[in-house]
Amino acid sequence: MSHVLATYAKFPITAVKGEGARLWDSEGHCYLDFCAGIATCSIGHCHPALTKAIAEQSSTLMHCSNLFQIPLQQELATVIVDEFTKIPGKVFFSNSGAEANDGMIKTARRFGHARPNSSGKPRYEVITFNNSFHGRTLGSMAATAQSKIHQGFDPMLPGFRYVPLNDIEALTAAVSDITAGIMLEPIQGEGGVNEVTPEFLNFVDKLCKEHDLLLMLDEVQCGLGRTGTLMGWQAFCPDLKPDTISWAKSLGGGFPIGAFWTSDRAIDDSGTPLSSLMNAGSHGSTYGGNPLACAAALAVLHEIQSSDLSANAAHQEQRIRKEVQSWNHPAIVDIRGKGLLLGFALNPDAIPSDQDTPPALHLCKSLMKNGLLTVPAGTETLRWLPPLNVSDNEIDEALNILKNTLDSF
Ligand SMILES: *Cc1c(COP(=O)(O)O)cnc(C)c1O
Repeated sequence: MSHVLATYAKFPITAVKGEGARLWDSEGHCYLDFCAGIATCSIGHCHPALTKAIAEQSSTLMHCSNLFQIPLQQELATVIVDEFTKIPGKVFFSNSGAEANDGMIKTARRFGHARPNSSGKPRYEVITFNNSFHGRTLGSMAATAQSKIHQGFDPMLPGFRYVPLNDIEALTAAVSDITAGIMLEPIQGEGGVNEVTPEFLNFVDKLCKEHDLLLMLDEVQCGLGRTGTLMGWQAFCPDLKPDTISWAKSLGGGFPIGAFWTSDRAIDDSGTPLSSLMNAGSHGSTYGGNPLACAAALAVLHEIQSSDLSANAAHQEQRIRKEVQSWNHPAIVDIRGKGLLLGFALNPDAIPSDQDTPPALHLCKSLMKNGLLTVPAGTETLRWLPPLNVSDNEIDEALNILKNTLDSF
């Protein structure tokens, strides 16, 4: 009998060892791992640079309270700002994506207090989008628009309003004198691999400027090279300047760490930086950004930069699209996403399913039997999230398994 709370429906596989894009189970089976911890193992399992950084740091200093100076935290924040966002700003470190999003939401609340509406009342509402996923804390769950995530947890934290993604009219109508920000995933991961259109993202930016709102990006799944660009938004609007961004997943390569960044841009005529609103005492985390987590993330970011892994993500996307299009397979109706966050939209009539097993889950289980680990995104989309350093041969092998599995239906 399990003593673990049964919040996850688990696959019957026990992973015991990983190396690069490969995973071994307790029965000795070897899999190609295109789930990769749901986009977490960004540089593959047990990358030598990452295990070395963790081993060295853990035998030097694992943890030190945020009440003291932590040079590795400074170093990591500098790399994120100078090499990744390339927009002046400041970073807060958390332990997960949901916590990073909670921090962004708190920043929007502070902003709404610093910039009240014309009747002098603080603004507090954040607009988010149907099919979004922002996490499982009370704050990030309320930001998440999917009703299945809310079920049985009412009442939700107030201060959110949901509109359809890429719907300019609905978004315009949703902005009011209590709106403080607009928060979105450039590519919705859990919600089905749905991309924002460049036109819509530019419109969000324009609307934020017009109404003095924060442009808040959740890049927990799509950020840090995955889309074939270092920042997820750059795959759609390279010149965009967001106000806040959250990350987790890829950042630690499997070690738990999250972060949010806030721009230094002035929010008023006296030049108050947005980042100054989250001042001493406004937020905190005991573990957040401890020396061990920062050493791990520094190793991951260094590998993403020095091996140009965003370029590999773009390269592999082209290879995958070309090959799958050449199949003209009746089971695949579309490929959505960018880089190595790809969703194969499935034809539900061409794949077996039943009440408990929608087509995407059925395909996922069949691929698993054939040696390829993947993950669904919704009921009719198969998602691929391989490590960013996946090789041509590994992609070819996975494509082969996918084709043979689809042909077998
Ligand atoms: C996974 C995910 C989260 C939540 O991250 P956790 O680390 O599980 O808290 C938030 N936003 C997006 C877009 C995600 O994919």
